[in-house]
Parts: sequence; structure tokens; C-alpha cells
Amino acid sequence: MTASPAPTTQLDLGGITLTYVPDGEFRAEPGIAYPHGHEDVLTDGLDVLDDDGMLVLSVGAILVTTHDRRVLIDTGIGDRTIPLVRPGADRDAFMRGGMLLENLRALGVRPEDVDAVLLTHLHADHVGWIGDESAGTAPTFPNAEYWVSDDEWEAWADGDGADAVGPRPHELALIATRRRALTDGCEPVDGVVAVATAGHTPGHVAFAVRGSSGRALVVGDALHCPAEVLHPDLVWVGDHDPAGAVATRRAITERVGDGAEVLVGPHFPDAVFRRYRPTVAVPLTELAP
Ligand SMILES: [Zn+2]
Repeated sequence: MTASPAPTTQLDLGGITLTYVPDGEFRAEPGIAYPHGHEDVLTDGLDVLDDDGMLVLSVGAILVTTHDRRVLIDTGIGDRTIPLVRPGADRDAFMRGGMLLENLRALGVRPEDVDAVLLTHLHADHVGWIGDESAGTAPTFPNAEYWVSDDEWEAWADGDGADAVGPRPHELALIATRRRALTDGCEPVDGVVAVATAGHTPGHVAFAVRGSSGRALVVGDALHCPAEVLHPDLVWVGDHDPAGAVATRRAITERVGDGAEVLVGPHFPDAVFRRYRPTVAVPLTELAP
């Protein structure tokens, strides 16, 4: 089987629902994504590669819905394609977005209905729909506050926007006008608690979500691929602090190891909602009831 970007999928936790809302897809050369070795683990029955042998990642947002809130965790890439330049490569590597607003609309959610945006971190594929470059300082989600940790904000706020994987100047300007600080353990939305998970970026944050009938952990880019669940020592090319990222991955895989919490990997192909077992991360759709 070959991997595909995940479709719109819902997880009802009881009074709080998570919906994976696709924006697009991400194809990466395995040897570049994991520069310290990968072949054996990526082909180990995981179905994370496409027909050309490229690593497939989903890209989108997690919509959190409660009786009175519509909240997004991350915002995808935006309406654009970011080529990933690889000298001498003969296979296309890219991040492509564009579908988020349309997919939200199909769920009955208009941009003005979103009242908060929780950002795991500020990489380009997570802040892309905050605003439209041509619209200057007009926000896409006019009624939303943006929640970002202080460490993450300080790592990017003084940049010039020249880093291809970082936020663009108009995105930084929009966040600056309405930023709220995420701190470890804070609860920006009832039932959603911030979990400090630095390593991939300096102030990366995951979110623990609790409903009346279940729990989930939205891991952001603390884990990119099911291979990292089984092999938390894998280092992703974009990890700011490789040792810190590995320590965070180990802590998360230990935390979700008893299967009590649904592991939500927004970059995972095919299924972003999974339950972890000591030997395999099983797509939720394949679990026995
Ligand atoms: Zn990402």
C-alpha cells in the first residue's frame, strides 16, 4: 500500500470534537528528511511512502469544536506551493496548501466563526492561513486571538522573514497585534491544555484535549511520521535542537504508550488519529470497537 495525505476526519471525545481539516500535502525525500538513516524503518510495514518512494505527510489544521467555541490548532500552508530544493534530485519535493478554507466551509465553519488559533510553532506550514500577503494586515480569521509560547515568539519575532521555513513578515505582524502567551499547563480553551514540547522548535507546544468520553494529544511537529513513534530517536532535518527533539519524542511515546490517549499527528499520512501500542501505531479506523 502507498501512503496518501489524510482526508477530513473527526474524533468525538464527548462534548469536544477534533476534526482534521486538510490544507494540502507535503512530499519529502526520505534521505533528506531523516539525514541520519531511515531506509529500514520507513519500509517496515508502515505505509508512509508514495509510489515514487517519497515520504508523504499530511498538512492541515485541527478544528476543535465545543458547544460554544470554534478553535483551530495551526493553520496550514496557505494558498501556495513551497518547493523544497534538492540539488541533483530527480523527484519533486514540495509543500502545497490551498484547501483549508474550502474544507472548513464544507464543515459549516466560516473564517469569522473561528475565535482562537492555537499555534504549536511558527513554521511556514503552520501559519500559512493567518493572513493573505496581498491583504496586508487583514487577518483571515478576523475574530481570532493567536496563542503562541513566549519562547517560540522570541525565536522568530525579530527575524526578517527570509527563512523559507519560518513565518513571513505579514504573518508576524498579524500575530503581534493579537498574541496571547501559551504557557505549559495553561488552558486557552476549556478542555485543551498546552504541553511544552520544545526541540523541533525552541517553543513548540502540543495540546492535550479532554472530553467526557476520551482524551487525545495533538503533537504538532513533535512527531512528523508514524516511524518516529516506533523509533523516537529519528532526527528530522528541520529539528532546531536534535537532542531536545528526541527527548520530547521519547517522552510523548512513553506518555501515549498505554493507548489511553489518542495520538493526533497532523502530519501523519492516511490517518492523523491513532492509538499507540508498544509495537505499532494503528490507524484508528482499523481498531476493533
Ligand atoms: Zn510542520
